[in-house]
Amino acid sequence: MGVSSPVSAQAVPGLDRWRELPAAQQPRWPDRAALDTVLGTLATVPPIVAPAEVDALRAQLADVAQGKAFLLQGGDCAETFDLNTEPHLQATTRTLLQMAVVLTYGASVPVVKVGRVAGQYAKPRSSDTDALGLPSYRGDMVNSLEPVLEKRIPDPNRLVRAYANSAAAMNMIRAYARGGLADLHAVHDWNKDFVASSPAGVRYEVIAREIDRALAFMKACGIDSEALRGVELYNSHEALILDYEQALLRVHEGRPYALSAHFVWVGERTRQMDGAHIEFVSKLANPVGVKIGPTTTPEQATELVERLDPDGVPGKLTLISRMGNGKIRDVLPGIVEKVTASGHQVVWQCDPMHGNTHESPSGYKTRHFDRVVDEVLGFFHVHRALGTWPGGIHVELTGEDVTECLGGAMEISDADLNSRYETACDPRLNTGQSLELAFLVAEMLRG
Ligand code: PEP
Ligand code: MN
Repeated sequence: MGVSSPVSAQAVPGLDRWRELPAAQQPRWPDRAALDTVLGTLATVPPIVAPAEVDALRAQLADVAQGKAFLLQGGDCAETFDLNTEPHLQATTRTLLQMAVVLTYGASVPVVKVGRVAGQYAKPRSSDTDALGLPSYRGDMVNSLEPVLEKRIPDPNRLVRAYANSAAAMNMIRAYARGGLADLHAVHDWNKDFVASSPAGVRYEVIAREIDRALAFMKACGIDSEALRGVELYNSHEALILDYEQALLRVHEGRPYALSAHFVWVGERTRQMDGAHIEFVSKLANPVGVKIGPTTTPEQATELVERLDPDGVPGKLTLISRMGNGKIRDVLPGIVEKVTASGHQVVWQCDPMHGNTHESPSGYKTRHFDRVVDEVLGFFHVHRALGTWPGGIHVELTGEDVTECLGGAMEISDADLNSRYETACDPRLNTGQSLELAFLVAEMLRG
């Protein structure tokens, strides 16, 4: 295994081309020299992930693209430095693992597990200013959530802190993946606790009991494989701040890897075909994603696919649809048909969160659980009708009992939102809502 080296502009032709293109949503750093010093440091640090891990994920996503695996991706909308704590990371990881067990059973195929974690520190914003007239919060990598003018000025030193936090978080996540947290029996026991305590539990008792039996059967057969005690966990974030991504890019065996994360995606607001973000990710060896919203045409989607998967590598590109539950059934079919006809084997993933955001009468940005579920249902229907594989889901969630999304078995209401509304950006499903979604998707997967 070779060593991946920091990038010089000549290393791979065209690697710097994104710099000549318009880049949406970039911070206006007040001091270019200070930024350059930070970027110089980041260009030499050990990266957060290794090329071999990135390649392993790409191979697993090829299985997803070909209907042989299912992709579960989730975590905070925006991670924060304050909440980059052991309990928070454990709770997120535990929730993802619990969902994955249920989905594995539902799909009867391996579930590829990717956190929105260890680097999800930058946010695109629809407005440059917030409700108070202050510069918008753009993620802890850029400025502070605190509504104070000076703290909203982009500070390049935050890039170093984002790197350090991401590396520390990824270190813990690798440990969880190998240690007790990932033990299948423990994870299933937590799911049984959920079934016993959730008002919706009876509905899921059947699946939980079947998993119980499957585990008992394996035990009786003497199957006690390593595979039941450890998992692979990958990290991901939106590739938004291109200076940061470029600084953590390394060339390994002649190929450029964004080693800030295993998987990066381009968001709905930065996916301009002639913009810097698409150009940047088009050069990467990583598997990459792109969000496609309700105005995406089949032609645009196909153009993105040609650009981001030029060599036709199965699973290289994940198309993350986030249409809204009222639109997915109309908008997605044409896209799936045209992309499928192009011959590219992409991962089709449903983000049922970002098209279903509204403001509650009490003024909170929220989402209703029923609309989230309905968008996933629509996604499954579209793929079933076309004979394509509904490859995965992408959700904003936390392993804590927050009250940010409405509905679910606990029937969170408008009046409940203020009791634990803690997100730094978009509303997340809480643990119970996340598990309920996993059980519902497992039912969909079983047809
Ligand atoms: C997000 O994933 O947090 C996000 C901003 O999504 P989108 O680009 O789909 O709006
Ligand atoms: Mn979000």
